[in-house]
Amino acid sequence: MENSIEISGLTKKYGNTTVVDNLNLSIKKGEVFGLLGPNGAGKSTSIRMLLGLTEINSGSIRVCGFSPQSQALKVKEKVGYLPEDVGFYNNLTGRENLMLTARLNKIAHAEAEQSVRHLLNLVGLSAETDKKAGFYSRGMRQRLGLADVLIKKPDVIILDEPTLGLDPKGMKELLDKIKSLSQNDGITVLFSSHHLHQVQHICDRVGIFVKGKLIAAGDIQSLSGELFAESPMVIKAGITMTTEQDNSRQQTIEDLKKSINLIDRVSDVKYESDCLIIGCDRDISAEISKRVVGANVDLVSLTKKAYGLNDIYNKYFEGGGSDE
Ligand code: ADP
Repeated sequence: MENSIEISGLTKKYGNTTVVDNLNLSIKKGEVFGLLGPNGAGKSTSIRMLLGLTEINSGSIRVCGFSPQSQALKVKEKVGYLPEDVGFYNNLTGRENLMLTARLNKIAHAEAEQSVRHLLNLVGLSAETDKKAGFYSRGMRQRLGLADVLIKKPDVIILDEPTLGLDPKGMKELLDKIKSLSQNDGITVLFSSHHLHQVQHICDRVGIFVKGKLIAAGDIQSLSGELFAESPMVIKAGITMTTEQDNSRQQTIEDLKKSINLIDRVSDVKYESDCLIIGCDRDISAEISKRVVGANVDLVSLTKKAYGLNDIYNKYFEGGGSDE
């Protein structure tokens, strides 16, 4: 399948700070791709480069086959962009705002009227058509923004933090609309968000963007495997020992750690607060208990845990994942 967006080796610096570092990414036609990462990761900057709104330092970008740097107008024809904060004329109604956009895009009046009616209906604003945009809620403004970018029938839509400031219900409604656009009209969607949990269900693939680097990309299932490739599973073994002597205690623990480290597919063994913490990529509980008991140590608990979405969230999004 052809790619709508092709990015290779893209780098952007502000002064001495690299804010986007050697970004490589291809997005297929009709795909919904979520560029996810904490605040300040470089998501907006990447989007601005895709639209030709910011200079690039190195690398190359193709959007629908065109370069945003040298063919900005061509890219603008193909791409609808919903910025973080959409600007509307507050004293004009929703319908009037969209009609204005249609006129700026040189769409004939009769066709524009029909299209505006259809789009307001599509985004669920038919009841607010004649309300002034200044009285729209944040969620309504975002939906009007979506209708606004659809007027020129784009092949690709790019949305910067579209769910920012929306309540969970408004967020779900907007995301479902975005998903159905891709499914029904084959529109390619790229959007940024710092809400991994809320947006992941509509994405075909997500990219995890941290400190200017795309550290992993794929569907959610394959991501946890990629991000925690060394130790996708952690087994905790609680132990006690009868010996009171510190020296022999220490020695026993060191020997046990070495012995467990020798088990096939173990990547890491630590000892913390009466617990051996073993990183591995398969369930080796039985083997661990054998070695603990074999070392004359009492095994008091054994728990195992596989990494998943919550761990990706905690590792990369903590602190950046809250609502503004
Ligand atoms: P995100 O969209 O992921 O929150 P941004 O792309 O907005 O991140 O910002 C990435 C980094 O680039 C941040 O450290 C930000 O402070 C910095 N930055 C963004 N725009 C500018 C600018 N015009 N001048 C200097 N630094 C900037």
